[in-house]
Amino acid sequence: MSIYEPVIGLEVHLQTKTKSKMFCGCSSNYFGSEPNTRTCPVCLGLPGALPVPNEKAIEHTLKLALALNCSINKKSKFDRKNYFFHDLPKGYQISQYDLPIGYDGWVEIEVRDDSKRIRIKRVHQEEDTAKTINEGENLLIDFNKSGVPLTEIVTKTDFESIEEVIKFAKRMRQIVRYLDVSDADMEKGQMRFELNMSLRKQGEKQLPSYKVEVKNIGSISVLEKVIIREVERQTKILDEGEIPDQETRGLKDMTGETVSQRVKEDSDDYRYFPEPDIPPLEFSDNYISEIRKTIPELPHEKKMRFEEEYGLDGGMAEVLISTKDFADWYEMASEGKKKEQAIDIASWIIGDLKKLMTAKKVSLKKLKIKPVHISKISEMVSSGIISGTTGKQILEESFDTGKDPEIIVKERNLGQIGDKEEIEEVASRIIEKNPKVVSDYKNKNENALKYLVGQVMRETKGRANPKLTEEILKSILE
Ligand SMILES: [Zn+2]
Repeated sequence: MSIYEPVIGLEVHLQTKTKSKMFCGCSSNYFGSEPNTRTCPVCLGLPGALPVPNEKAIEHTLKLALALNCSINKKSKFDRKNYFFHDLPKGYQISQYDLPIGYDGWVEIEVRDDSKRIRIKRVHQEEDTAKTINEGENLLIDFNKSGVPLTEIVTKTDFESIEEVIKFAKRMRQIVRYLDVSDADMEKGQMRFELNMSLRKQGEKQLPSYKVEVKNIGSISVLEKVIIREVERQTKILDEGEIPDQETRGLKDMTGETVSQRVKEDSDDYRYFPEPDIPPLEFSDNYISEIRKTIPELPHEKKMRFEEEYGLDGGMAEVLISTKDFADWYEMASEGKKKEQAIDIASWIIGDLKKLMTAKKVSLKKLKIKPVHISKISEMVSSGIISGTTGKQILEESFDTGKDPEIIVKERNLGQIGDKEEIEEVASRIIEKNPKVVSDYKNKNENALKYLVGQVMRETKGRANPKLTEEILKSILE
């Protein structure tokens, strides 16, 4: 057991959904396109080019800030963050400094049956830089990514475990997808993390005297690995009585191993100053409330409601709210149902339906089976019209064809036989054919009755109601 606990803060860089870039008309859909084909003087950073802000991008950032419970700076502005790097030829990035669009918000995460608020320091708008590619001795630069809108979300150092960080990262991805402000497709670099972390002795309250930053983490699993490796690395240094360097580290590879990039003596000095080419931003109360109205019920609230309204446990609710569309699908299936039925419908969806979707690689949007079909199957099984096994078969057929389960049951005569005479007729035949088992039964062999029930089930291809069959066999035998 380690005597240290991590103190972690996160920055999330999010590419929001816009047609064009942040300050020019170039397409922001650059992924997979020929290098340097989505460029113009503005995003190439040529002297004299004038930036014009993308309204949609700002709307997305404002919407996200509101969804993260932030206060809004009604008067905001863009600032120049000055530094030179080969992916930033104009010598500054347009960002926001002292007046971010949103500040002082929070996100609720669930950790070990409890809720915890992770505080959000700020949410601001900025632009992405170009992409550098190392090719042998050459450093190549692709400007397609340069100027793509980025929303930056900065948390306070509220994370005290890896689990909390991962829960938060997943919840953030979910929230932005619910809001439809970003696809947050990590493989396309649409959501990236920057980590700052240090260790302190367990029980200590003040922040450690140093801080290690790790930049450009492109996936949640790598984020987890980086934290594990950093805890190990920093623990070792502290155990030797030293203090880890205040530094920025970069990913060496996908195993989460990092290498030192630069050691910082002081905090960065970017000489921020207001961007002179863009007028200040002003958000009216009316505009803010219009944007607020477009925010749907968010994952955490939806989960709480599902537990309350449908009686689901936390695990089930979590799976169902994984995407907004999936949650909506479930609600259509369980609309107007009692809790017991709603729970049963949830297990059909989480179990059999999800398994089929994975096995047959069918997305929710392409499903032929309708929500009402699942509720019909659930009802037919629980009321004993069909057996659970038949239910699964019908589900698969409905999945493949989109056919109504009730019609399948009728057409194929799959309903359980609840007709006494029909079962009696089969049961008498089975008894006649098995004199040995019958005498076993009379000698109180418990397995004999089970065997006879099994035979009737076999004869009726599983359609006889098992309970009724058992009763009928008993009454004939006695
Ligand atoms: Zn451009």
